[in-house]
Amino acid sequence: METEARNQTRGESGDAVRKTPPPKWQLADVIDVISETPETTTLRLAVPEPTEFTSGQYYNIRIPVDGRPRPIQRAYSIASSPFPKYDVVEFGIKEMEGGLVSPVLAKKTQVGDKLEIRGPYGAFTWTEELGGPLLLISAGSGVVPFMSMIRYARAKNLAVPMHLLFSSKSSEYVIYSNELKELEAELEWLTVTHTFTREPDHPTARYHRRIDKEMVAELMGESGAKLAYICGPPEMVELCEVVLVDLGMDPENVYSEKYD
Ligand SMILES: Cc1cc2nc3c(=O)[nH]c(=O)nc-3n(C[C@H](O)[C@H](O)[C@H](O)COP(=O)(O)OP(=O)(O)OC[C@H]3O[C@@H](n4cnc5c(N)ncnc54)[C@H](O)[C@@H]3O)c2cc1C
Repeated sequence: METEARNQTRGESGDAVRKTPPPKWQLADVIDVISETPETTTLRLAVPEPTEFTSGQYYNIRIPVDGRPRPIQRAYSIASSPFPKYDVVEFGIKEMEGGLVSPVLAKKTQVGDKLEIRGPYGAFTWTEELGGPLLLISAGSGVVPFMSMIRYARAKNLAVPMHLLFSSKSSEYVIYSNELKELEAELEWLTVTHTFTREPDHPTARYHRRIDKEMVAELMGESGAKLAYICGPPEMVELCEVVLVDLGMDPENVYSEKYD
């Protein structure tokens, strides 16, 4: 999706007035490449002219593609915390078979490469002013912005209760598997619940099916969530939006990001 959030407000005359200069394309250095799962790779990029971002936001990344007259851009959420430093940003890229951009980023990018990026963008954000408890619902690479929120809360010692529901194909496909285990052991305010859709009975997962109404209802009850964030494939996001509101959550407190 070639998303461009507009960083604009309306002036008294009704004209569009730019609050801050729009982000521009810049060449970032790839300083780390980490294989997370068979299909997902972490890229760490040093940003030459960094802008402070908020957890949950994304950058656009564009690359040249054979046969295309112009570079092709895609949106990628930031996985790293903006605090204490935001000059290095981390992305979690899942290879989408047959895709134009993600296979190159996830499988062909190396340390020392340069990537064109522009951002940050997006209103799918959380800061301590919004409070909690939070229910974070994700499938696959939808967990990426939640890593930024969790890492940010840890870095700032916020102790706002967060319950992450994370759907993966199987234990092998859990992005940030070790880090999530360590964070959950370290942080009494963090709970991680896994569901595996293609690995029945694996002990790491509490559920072994796709995210559904019963699952969300159980976790909403247990977490006492006042705010919910949902991120991942559009069908999952739409289902959870409806379910959360049906369960009594104020629609104003349900934030969603669709990776379409
Ligand atoms: C705000 C936002 C944040 C995002 N953050 C992340 C993130 O953190 N991590 C992440 O991995 N992704 C993220 N995404 C998704 C990402 O932007 C891309 O959509 C994804 O990487 C696929 O891009 P692609 O170029 O590889 O695939 P595309 O070229 O867009 O293709 C997508 C799929 O469609 C199929 N396809 C393409 N053309 C056709 C056709 N003509 N007929 C049939 N099928 C076709 C391809 O085979 C492929 O499976 C985010 C999306 C949004 C909107």
